[in-house]
Amino acid sequence: MAILDIRVLGDPILRQATTPVTEITDELQRLIDDMFQTMRHARGIGLAAPQVGRTERIAVVDVDDDPMVLINPEIVQPTSAKAKGEEGCLSIPDIYADVERPKGVTVRALDRHGKVFEVEAADLLARCLQHEIDHLDGKLFLDYLSVLKRTAALAKWRLKSDDYPGYVRRVSLETPEELDEHQHPEEEL
Ligand code: ZN
Repeated sequence: MAILDIRVLGDPILRQATTPVTEITDELQRLIDDMFQTMRHARGIGLAAPQVGRTERIAVVDVDDDPMVLINPEIVQPTSAKAKGEEGCLSIPDIYADVERPKGVTVRALDRHGKVFEVEAADLLARCLQHEIDHLDGKLFLDYLSVLKRTAALAKWRLKSDDYPGYVRRVSLETPEELDEHQHPEEEL
């Protein structure tokens, strides 16, 4: 397994729509394993293919120690009830903002073996799934903010973005023990 570089805000790939997967190959299985490893090392709870420079419609999430692979995911049913919650993104490090989204969603996708499944999610998992599916459509959580809040977030990001030459975030190698020691109040997706 390998830890992949994470693309950060400014890389055009984050704004491109992805291509549905038509064949589940060994290379795709490796990509999925690498995405899980990258997400864990970056201490995230979700990661979408464009965030590691790929154009396949694939995301991985791990909320409450329940790892899930989503190939070609689609939201089939959002709840009418909405909820506001703080979001961050592995591709926009250190920037957080409240985003209002449907509180629950039903998502249909293929698992890593190509089998169709549906997941009915609420709260954090629902938020995470919507955030990742947005990535697969070239959308970022900043897009939901008011002009004022988005401008403030982008100004803050401009000060940080110098840390990521070429729009690349290299995820440092850390042992699982070190990972466990980290306290992270905010979740990044
Ligand atoms: Zn994200």
